[in-house]
Amino acid sequence: MTLLELTDVTAFYGPVQVLDAVSLSVPDGGAVGILGANGAGKTTTLRAISGTVRAGGSIVFDGKDIRGLRPDQVAGLGIAHVPEGRGTLGDLTVRENLRVGAYKRKDRKGIQSDIDYCIDLFPQLKERIKSNASALSGGEQQMLAVGRAIMSKPRLLLLDEASLGLAPSTAKTVYEAIRRLRIESGIAMVVVEQNANLAFTLVDSATVLETGRNVLTGSSAELKGMDEIRRAYLGG
Ligand code: ATP
Repeated sequence: MTLLELTDVTAFYGPVQVLDAVSLSVPDGGAVGILGANGAGKTTTLRAISGTVRAGGSIVFDGKDIRGLRPDQVAGLGIAHVPEGRGTLGDLTVRENLRVGAYKRKDRKGIQSDIDYCIDLFPQLKERIKSNASALSGGEQQMLAVGRAIMSKPRLLLLDEASLGLAPSTAKTVYEAIRRLRIESGIAMVVVEQNANLAFTLVDSATVLETGRNVLTGSSAELKGMDEIRRAYLGG
C-alpha cells in the first residue's frame, strides 16, 4: 500500500518557484531518499509535506489529500518532521524535550516506555537525560531530535540532513540507530541527505532532484550502480 504520494508538487518563496514538479511515492513501512545538490528543493519538498510551506499539486497521505493543511493538522495525522538544524528546545532538558514530542498523548505508561526505547536506541542520551539540550553535542542533539519525533508515535518520519555537521563516525551511528528504528517500528521515512552513501544504508529507493524536478528515480541498488550518481554524490 502507498502511504504517501506526491504528484507534481510545486512551491514558491515569494515570486521564486523552487519546486517545479516533484513526485514521490512512499510505500507503507518504506523508506525513500531525496538526493540532490544544494538548493535543489529537498528541504522545501519536506516542508510541502509537513504544511510549513504552501504547495500546489497533490499530496496524499493514507488516502487523504493533506495539501493545504496546517502543520499541526499534518502532525496530528502521524507525520513527524525532524528539520535540518534539529529544532530541539535548548532550555529544556533531554527528558523534557522527549516529553514535548509526546504532548498529544495521554498514555503515561506508553510514554515512559517510549522514552526508555529512545534511550535504548541512543544510549548517549541516558547520561544526558537531565542536561539542557543546548549543552549537547551536535550528534546528541540530532539523536534527541529523532527521539522527540519518535515520541509522537508517527507513521511517517521526515528526516532532513540528519548527518549535517556531524563527524563521519557520529553520522554513521545516527544512521545505524535510525535503521534499527525502521526495522523495529515499521515507521515509513522520507530521508533528505547530501551524503548518498549514508542515505543508501537506510532507504530502499531514492529520487534525485535538480532545480525542483525529479531527474532520476530508482532503487538504491540501481542508483548506486550509475556513474552519474557515483560522480555527483558518492565521491567518485
Ligand atoms: P539545501 O541542502 O541547501 O537545504 P535543498 O535542496 O534542501 O538545499 P531548499 O532548501 O529546498 O533546497 O531550497 C530551494 C531553493 O529555495 C534554494 O534556491 C534556496 O535558496 C531557496 N530558499 C530556501 N528557503 C527560502 C526562503 N525561506 N526564502 C526564499 N528562498 C528560499
